[in-house]
Amino acid sequence: MRYVYGPVPSRRLGRSLGVSPIPSKTCNYSCVYCQLGRTDHFTNERKDFFDPQEILKEIFQSVNENKSGIDYITFVGEGEPTLCKSLGYLINQAKSTHIPVAVITNGALLYDEDVRMDLKNADVVLPSLDAGCQKTFSSVNRPYKGISFEMMIDGLKKFAKMRDGQLWIEVMLVKNLNDSEEEILKIRDILKDLDADRIYINVPIRPPAEPWVEIPDEESIVKAHEILKSHVISGYETGEFNISDPTQLYDEILKICERHPMREDQIRQVCMKLNVDPDGMISKLRKDKNVKEISYQEKIFFVVKPKMEVKA
Ligand code: SF4
Repeated sequence: MRYVYGPVPSRRLGRSLGVSPIPSKTCNYSCVYCQLGRTDHFTNERKDFFDPQEILKEIFQSVNENKSGIDYITFVGEGEPTLCKSLGYLINQAKSTHIPVAVITNGALLYDEDVRMDLKNADVVLPSLDAGCQKTFSSVNRPYKGISFEMMIDGLKKFAKMRDGQLWIEVMLVKNLNDSEEEILKIRDILKDLDADRIYINVPIRPPAEPWVEIPDEESIVKAHEILKSHVISGYETGEFNISDPTQLYDEILKICERHPMREDQIRQVCMKLNVDPDGMISKLRKDKNVKEISYQEKIFFVVKPKMEVKA
């Protein structure tokens, strides 16, 4: 599978079948906390990077193979999924499986009416809102030139009014960048107009793009939680990875690590479930030139270095 991975455990979406309709590290933001590293392919142009039919074929195949094991089909990408021009078509086709469809987006392109229409039918849309003003927006999200804070907020408000599905807003807090009471109050004022079904506070628990990024102090997180009346998702996923064939285990781990850093304890857990030697697996990953080992927040993560496959 090239475009679809999992199902993987997700803190918000249960067993999530990930769909990545864009090439690696393709985004219109370059967030300081991005777990993919700095954005390589910085663009704000929507297009079909891949054949939508090929993506659909993989979605249907995965759904058939995991009939009752998927809570959401999630368009998430290794960057920003709304950059895929056929996203609306893919969402509507994926809905024919009767599995709820979610889209995790930075929300920047919601200023574009086509994007709002594309996301209208998704069961859940999860946009980011990490700032309450232009200055913080520029520091945290580092958007593509021409995307202003005002445009982004205006698009978000328009989408909040016309959506058919749920709106779950995620606020990623970074120490000393957007975790002050003043900034949180500004975010709260924007949220008042969105009537979101859920608000999540997240913190950078995975290796960030910029090494100086830090998780805010407990006190700031609690204060933000009180002000925003949010859920806090600061812990790691605890669910299991749905991999059943021990002969494919190495390749399956690589596929997940391409999109999503995997912790050493998660890899050991899945190995033990399939009676595969965990030490042998970790040692194989360490020897693989395409795999990078990162130590962050007292945990070891494995990521696959992205292949440059963008045909821009
Ligand atoms: S965190 Fe999301 S929006 Fe930000 S740079 Fe990474 S992929 Fe893009």
